[in-house]
Amino acid sequence: MPGFEVFGEEERKEVQDVLETGVLHRYGFDVARKGHWKAKSFEQQFAERTGVKYCLLVSSGTAALSTALAATGIGAGDEVIIPPFTFVATFEAVIAAGAAPVFADIDHTLCLDPKAIAKALTARTKAVMPVHMCGAMAHIDEIKSFCDQKGLVLIEDVAQSVGGSFNGKALGTFGQMGCFSFDPVKTITCGEGGAVITDDEELFRQADYHADHGHDHLCSDRGLEDHPIMGTNFRISELSAAVGLAQLRKLDQIIEKQRFHKQTLKEALSRFARITFRQIPDENGDSATFLTFFLPEAEAAKKFCQKLAEAGVGGCFYWYENKWHYLRQWDHLKALKSAAKLPVTLLADLPDYQNLKLPVSDHIMSKAVSMLIMVSWTPQELQKRVETVTRIAGEMLGQ
Ligand SMILES: *Cc1c(COP(=O)(O)O)cnc(C)c1O
Repeated sequence: MPGFEVFGEEERKEVQDVLETGVLHRYGFDVARKGHWKAKSFEQQFAERTGVKYCLLVSSGTAALSTALAATGIGAGDEVIIPPFTFVATFEAVIAAGAAPVFADIDHTLCLDPKAIAKALTARTKAVMPVHMCGAMAHIDEIKSFCDQKGLVLIEDVAQSVGGSFNGKALGTFGQMGCFSFDPVKTITCGEGGAVITDDEELFRQADYHADHGHDHLCSDRGLEDHPIMGTNFRISELSAAVGLAQLRKLDQIIEKQRFHKQTLKEALSRFARITFRQIPDENGDSATFLTFFLPEAEAAKKFCQKLAEAGVGGCFYWYENKWHYLRQWDHLKALKSAAKLPVTLLADLPDYQNLKLPVSDHIMSKAVSMLIMVSWTPQELQKRVETVTRIAGEMLGQ
């Protein structure tokens, strides 16, 4: 998955352009920058690639989520439906907006279950934020039609699935806004960075204002620009954007490699009847950053992961006990612990976060094992991995 695996001369060249002009700001300095507009170029190319009209590059994936929430008008007292299997940033962004995260179960796609969204709906629900986890998609068509039918905002968290698609349409283009992360361990990286994409001019405008102190970006002198709204600073630096620009050109290659590696491992494990695979609504749109499969019981899944680690097979995850990605271990969220008093604590009828119960998600996650797919494996390394994984599966499960 990680773009850092393919860091090289191309990234250095893009960064060098910026260093030579000394213009690290993404706006202004039109003459001094000598034609180098790294953030702007990334935005144009990424919009083109995903087939949308607008892209805004920001300082992180978390900033992208916050920007999308702000731009779509999600704020104080609203409820946003999210999955319990994601990265902490998803609920952090909702809470930072003054809105309350409401958890709905996942299904065997490891993403929000469209039917569970319907059950989690209340009079305060304003938005649904599915997370396309571990490289592949939710039942995004069903989620979109449900949101349209109920008049809910749909924001896709595509932080882990850049380059993925559903029926030929890029992930992140189904809702009002799509959010991406280019942090150091994502498929492509800026070092730190993120993006929001949309087809809606007004949403783009709000996002563009919000992420840069409300600047309207209509004037070449920043000091004379108007501020239609107050905002914040989620700007990306030209240095980070430069790295991302080189990485973006490598995205197709990365995904192609990942797909091949994943397919090889998947085929090897397919002969074990007791192993089942994560459901992927459109296999052709899988960005293939992870291979995820289910063992018959939780105990077996945990043990499988331990045995892989003992055998030196790196990058295997038992998410059920992971502190970053699954709700079970999010004690800080459950206690609403924060550096300062949170706006959500002022709300009446807040969900009972201490006693969240998601037995369906628990059942699915407790049996899941994920293997990170690396781009840089040599054919020998891949072969060794196949041998070790099938040996352990054979020992544990028989044929
Ligand atoms: C990485 C990630 C984010 C946040 O991205 P950052 O760039 O690290 O802030 C949000 N959601 C998910 C699902 C992620 O994996």
